[in-house]
Amino acid sequence: MIATDSDSDSSPQPCIKCQKQGRPVSRKTVLLMVKPAFLEQAMHGNYRFCSVPDCAIVYFEEEGNQQFTIDDLRVRVGVKVTEDPIPLCYCFGFDESHIRDDLSRTGSTDIPQRISQLIREGLCACESRNPSGMCCLGEVNRISALL
Ligand SMILES: [Zn+2]
Repeated sequence: MIATDSDSDSSPQPCIKCQKQGRPVSRKTVLLMVKPAFLEQAMHGNYRFCSVPDCAIVYFEEEGNQQFTIDDLRVRVGVKVTEDPIPLCYCFGFDESHIRDDLSRTGSTDIPQRISQLIREGLCACESRNPSGMCCLGEVNRISALL
């Protein structure tokens, strides 16, 4: 038998609500998003971001001891809200409505390109501004293609 991976006995717990694994997120990102009342609670453990749209949990600790929901954050989490404003690019402030407006006015939008350009110039701050800690562009492109 080939040895199983070494992290099998400390494998991270899934989101307690939706049972999805989520993506690791840095402590810095968590601390920059939660309300001040939760700062101390977020100082320990390893956190993951739950991107499931209808799950209220945003961050959960891999050890399963601590979760933060949309109400515990001071920013709106775009993937988890259905009413405007639906933030897409947290670095430069684009909401879903900006893309929708472009599309209804002109049939196209250059917002993804404008964001790409700024990212190429190293001017984005996704780790600090996007609650997922990931680059905003993936979500911007995904939504643009859907609208
Ligand atoms: Zn979840």
